[in-house]
Amino acid sequence: MLSEPVKNELKRIVGEKNASFAKEDLLCYSYDATNTLYPPEAVVFPGGPEEISLIVKMANSERFPVIPRGAGTGFTGGSLPVEGGVVISTERMKRVIEIDAENLTALVEPGVVTWEFQQEVERLGLFYPPDPSSLKFSTIGGNIAECAGGPRAVKYGVTRDYVLGLEAVLPTGGIIQTGVRTAKGVVGYDLTRLLVGSEGTLGIITRARLRLLPLPEETKTLLAVFNDLKDAAATVSQIIRSRIIPSTLELMDSTSIRCVEEYAMVGLPNAEAILLIETDGPRESALRDAQAVREICIGNNAFRADIASGKKEVKDIWQARRAISAALFRAKPNKINEDVVVPRSRITELILGLQEIARRRGLLIASFGHAGDGNIHANIMYDRKDPAEAMNAEEAVAEVFDLALRLDGTISGEHGIGVTKAPYLGMELSPQAVELMKGIKKTFDPNGILNPGKIFPGRKGRRTVEEETYAGVF
Ligand SMILES: Cc1cc2nc3c(=O)[nH]c(=O)nc-3n(C[C@H](O)[C@H](O)[C@H](O)COP(=O)(O)OP(=O)(O)OC[C@H]3O[C@@H](n4cnc5c(N)ncnc54)[C@H](O)[C@@H]3O)c2cc1C
Repeated sequence: MLSEPVKNELKRIVGEKNASFAKEDLLCYSYDATNTLYPPEAVVFPGGPEEISLIVKMANSERFPVIPRGAGTGFTGGSLPVEGGVVISTERMKRVIEIDAENLTALVEPGVVTWEFQQEVERLGLFYPPDPSSLKFSTIGGNIAECAGGPRAVKYGVTRDYVLGLEAVLPTGGIIQTGVRTAKGVVGYDLTRLLVGSEGTLGIITRARLRLLPLPEETKTLLAVFNDLKDAAATVSQIIRSRIIPSTLELMDSTSIRCVEEYAMVGLPNAEAILLIETDGPRESALRDAQAVREICIGNNAFRADIASGKKEVKDIWQARRAISAALFRAKPNKINEDVVVPRSRITELILGLQEIARRRGLLIASFGHAGDGNIHANIMYDRKDPAEAMNAEEAVAEVFDLALRLDGTISGEHGIGVTKAPYLGMELSPQAVELMKGIKKTFDPNGILNPGKIFPGRKGRRTVEEETYAGVF
């Protein structure tokens, strides 16, 4: 428990109104998209790196955990205070400090919402491609800490490819600058890349210098509809084989289509699979690629493959795609969302394998996601109130990971390891690799105060809201 002097010092550092110990506030910072709840003992809203540094130094001397938090949209529990402690929210640090159109870079604070940043650069004819489907509420800091991807990763890569340099508060309280302002730089170890995707366990990012591109002149959006999921999967492989790189190549299976249509009512057809495909670039080439993709879809038995004609249609299609995650709760009240990736040539095997696991276990597994990257979100649906079904779903996770690894894939393309995947780390990494990573963590964070209980298996205490309620905390 935080002592009264520690609470008073927190208030002194960030200002009285920027620290809270009230149960209702703590509840708001207890959860993320995993739908599990772990209450912190305090939440603070610092204004900059100096305040964060003071808090972190106190965390070392008084030995309490600190947990960085953006918008709390993570799918693996990365922002959850699983061992209690102080949540450091970046909500107040949301300035776009500079857009350098001459050098195609921008300097931002971590709490900037991704979509808002994208809108700001696009007004200047510039482009920041990383677009997780949560982009309307997730933050740049959270995107960097998770190395978020998104539909456009198939052509443009993931967040890591757009981070030139960082400012971060180290777990010992020091403030470092990593990386460069230039287009390239190779001085020493690449600390920027180490921090990107470190899930808030090696440093608290307080500023990021991001790489920008010129905004593509034209984007064409195409919806292809199939009566057989296998045909859709084969289409994905053929598009990649034909050396057209679409800017988006997303898949929805029948469960996703049905749930999303009931939820968003945008007029999606009744089908076994839909591919949402975009091509972009100079006007003529975007259109040429879209037409070539359309031919491939039709050649693989798509019964509809239409290039969207207006902004409203494109907006509706994207609204549907981004609503899938929330819409799936129409099928079952709980889900485990795993983001396995396989080499793109093996996407059909992955989808058929997921269907086989679902059939054999009598579970509903909704598959959708960034098929063009070989990255499928396998959503294992269940009802927590049915212990047998919950156990069945939990056991299916290991089978889904095993399937991805047998297909030369990985257990996480973009959601990270956090809490939920920590027990499975050893399925993919060798003991030597895990030990090396633990050594890196220890070097950065000798007292283990920064976001403990994440990535590595063997977490200490488990304190859910339910347990806290009984303990009289809530
Ligand atoms: C509907 C929905 C769709 C999604 N779609 C995608 C998708 O397409 N692609 C994808 O990659 N992810 C997706 N996600 C997952 C999630 O949105 C991303 O992981 C996102 O990057 C998290 O950002 P956040 O601001 O919410 O971070 P949080 O959830 O608050 O935190 C995530 C992690 O980052 C750390 N962190 C946050 N800020 C900082 C900081 N300043 N310094 C250091 N560490 C920090 C936290 O400690 C935590 O470990 C989706 C989530 C939802 C709910």
